[in-house]
Amino acid sequence: MTRANSLFTSAFCLLPSALILAAAQSAPTSLHDAFDAAAAYAYTAQVAGFGERMPGSAGYRKTQDLIQQVLRKTGATIEFDDFTARTPKGPIAVRNIIGKFHATTAPDQRIVILAGHYDTLFKPGFIGANDGASSTAILLAFAEALAKQKTANQVWLVWTDLEEAINEFQGDDGLVGSRHLAQKLAADGLVSRVRGLFLLDMIGDKDLGVARETISTRWLQDFIAQAAQRLGYSRSFFQYEVAIIDDHKSFLDVGIPSVDVVDARFGRMGPGFDGMGEFHHANTDTMDKVSKASLEIVGRTILLTVELLDR
Ligand SMILES: [Zn+2]
Repeated sequence: MTRANSLFTSAFCLLPSALILAAAQSAPTSLHDAFDAAAAYAYTAQVAGFGERMPGSAGYRKTQDLIQQVLRKTGATIEFDDFTARTPKGPIAVRNIIGKFHATTAPDQRIVILAGHYDTLFKPGFIGANDGASSTAILLAFAEALAKQKTANQVWLVWTDLEEAINEFQGDDGLVGSRHLAQKLAADGLVSRVRGLFLLDMIGDKDLGVARETISTRWLQDFIAQAAQRLGYSRSFFQYEVAIIDDHKSFLDVGIPSVDVVDARFGRMGPGFDGMGEFHHANTDTMDKVSKASLEIVGRTILLTVELLDR
């Protein structure tokens, strides 16, 4: 992903966060209480430990195997969206992986999609503990929560492939897997059934600050803000604005309401650093930059958002 507009950053006021206690003491039978942050952190370490995960690499195949293993264990319906992409590096085999939970035969059942990319940058030595592993892992922990707790909507977990650009985010380079899948959903007539899509990216950052990403669907962000407030996590969300080119754009382009849940400030910011922070797309994106607490905040908030949309 990349930052689309460097001019565009402004601070937001802290939201009041008074309505917390009831939610914190809610019954253990809710989806967000079924989220296991320790498992999300352990999966992040496991995936980062696979090393480089650019398409075709050994680490990439190990990641695919782990995703399938967890989906089988949790009883999801597994689907693949496979195709060959023409890229500046020549043809690349691309595989989006989809795990579907709680689907009924009702033709009007709504769909909620939770997505994140599992590929990493084509850069020797880059292991993407935050950028790639954290989003892959939080979806694995979501699978385990969804196996324990039913929802009225069907929930799809989507691991997108070839999100990272080979040269730069322009034309067909970058967002390759998500673009293919979004067009497939449109061709299958499913766009109007998707209530919302939440793309998770770089959400393991120890110093968590989820951006109010400005091309995202505002009313979906409002649901996230409501969930965060109920859980006492408001100060981790939407304190600054920035526009980001990321996989959510592919789904927005076909008319699916979508949000990029992204921490766009990874390490120190400013002159001399990457527009998304000093550790973004740097080989210093390692496990010491990730925390269980951040995964917990994002995981619980997004699953409570799924519950709010379930009514
Ligand atoms: Zn990236």
